[in-house]
Amino acid sequence: MERLFCNKCQTEKDINLFYRRKDTRTGRTTKCKECCRATMREYHQKNKEKRNAEKKIWYQNNREFANKQVMRWRKNNPHKVREYNMKNSNYYKYKATWHQRHPEAWYCWKEYKRALKDGVVKRGDGCAICNQVCYTEAYHKDFSKPMDILWLCKRCYCHIAKELYVNREKEDETFYKNTSDYYVSI
Ligand SMILES: [Zn+2]
Ligand SMILES: [Zn+2]
Repeated sequence: MERLFCNKCQTEKDINLFYRRKDTRTGRTTKCKECCRATMREYHQKNKEKRNAEKKIWYQNNREFANKQVMRWRKNNPHKVREYNMKNSNYYKYKATWHQRHPEAWYCWKEYKRALKDGVVKRGDGCAICNQVCYTEAYHKDFSKPMDILWLCKRCYCHIAKELYVNREKEDETFYKNTSDYYVSI
């Protein structure tokens, strides 16, 4: 096994501990990998502010391109995005494990969604309770009957779901303002 001498830490090391470089006599860098990294780290530390400012300007000038790159990365690395979200977002954690905690509701949801996609059922044009014409949500009184759907507006849906799932004794005024509360509490 060939060994090389590192200029920086002054020790002889295995050749594999040196980066490849075409323009040197040995075909490797004169510093070992460890020393190269240390030098780069020092350099970055010294130029941190300058580099950050440069990056910021670059981002401002290439915003669209940068965002596209991020979106592409997110698309190509869904498991990493998921991992990150599971670590950092309570809401995501709640959402991602919802089907485990409510298997019967999840099964029902899957069934009616498929029926909706296949055209077996049609989304209602308006709320069955307040008759408001709007985008409606599917309300199931019985999760074992996925096709037994009551189409409700968001407000009526929340109101009914609240009575059904949360069983709060008094009406919470902040309930409608903060629907994320609702999602966490069922
Ligand atoms: Zn070294
Ligand atoms: Zn309604």
